[in-house]
Amino acid sequence: MKEFFLAWSTVSMTTKVVRSIAEMQKIAQKLHRKGKTIGFVPTMGYLHLGHLSLVRVAKRYSDVVVVSVFVNPIQFGPQEDFNVYPRDFKRDRMLLSKEGVSYIFYPQARTMYPKGYKTYVEVKELSEKLCGRFRPGHFIGVTTVVAKLFNIVQPDIAVFGQKDAQQAVIIKKMVKDLNFPVKIVVAPTVREKDGLALSSRNVYLTPQERKKALILYQALKTAQSLIKQGNRDPQKILHTMYELINSVPEAKVDYIEIVDLDNLEPVSEIKDKVLIALAVRIGKARLIDNLVVKL
Ligand code: AMP
Repeated sequence: MKEFFLAWSTVSMTTKVVRSIAEMQKIAQKLHRKGKTIGFVPTMGYLHLGHLSLVRVAKRYSDVVVVSVFVNPIQFGPQEDFNVYPRDFKRDRMLLSKEGVSYIFYPQARTMYPKGYKTYVEVKELSEKLCGRFRPGHFIGVTTVVAKLFNIVQPDIAVFGQKDAQQAVIIKKMVKDLNFPVKIVVAPTVREKDGLALSSRNVYLTPQERKKALILYQALKTAQSLIKQGNRDPQKILHTMYELINSVPEAKVDYIEIVDLDNLEPVSEIKDKVLIALAVRIGKARLIDNLVVKL
């Protein structure tokens, strides 16, 4: 009896790959009819422990977990890395089945954006700040694909990483403004032991650049301790961060900012809670990282 149960439970854990929008919607509707809640983790694949940590959070909050693997062409600029973005679906599928994910939504670009596609979702202002200044159109691509994915997967909850802090703020705003019946959960950034935030784009770093990339987290931690020591002037803290990062010749800063967590506006004085966010290019990689510092 026990053996039968084990065999049965293994079979019931198999992960189904769904490539069609209509099929994914049918599955979601059926699950809802049965009273099951759906937890959703949107990704671009080439999964690492950061993604898997979101899956584990989704599992805690829901009955059935759906993960999408889709390198979304419309969130990449013409000079960006869409064509070379790392992909390994076989490995992703293996990792997700080990995590007990029930469905992987794995559409093709032409399925998501057929010829004549015309509709885009824009969260104004928030999308133009921080990374938005350097990646025009990027967040329109993100909010458009997430809105579509929500309509396809029909989740009760969706999990996003704090690693992409601005993305999480923008998605929460979109969900609120467009009344999506989805609860957004933001899960903490997963880091390597030495502090580097996990990212699919870390594969672009050579071993030497990988070492240099540690300066991002070091600068964030330095800022955090300056604030904890009583410094309240963002300009002074930013100056120290720029000095630290600019001391690494390979590092090219796009921005370092200390902003309000809700509206992403730079703060003039550090009070209660701030987001320290940065984007730095090292070699072929554009790395982003952030820390929320509470007083
Ligand atoms: P991506 O595949 O890069 O689009 O990321 C998919 C999701 O994983 C997003 O919600 C990211 O914020 C999240 N994510 C990426 N890296 C990490 C990390 N190191 N820790 C936690 N979440 C992450």
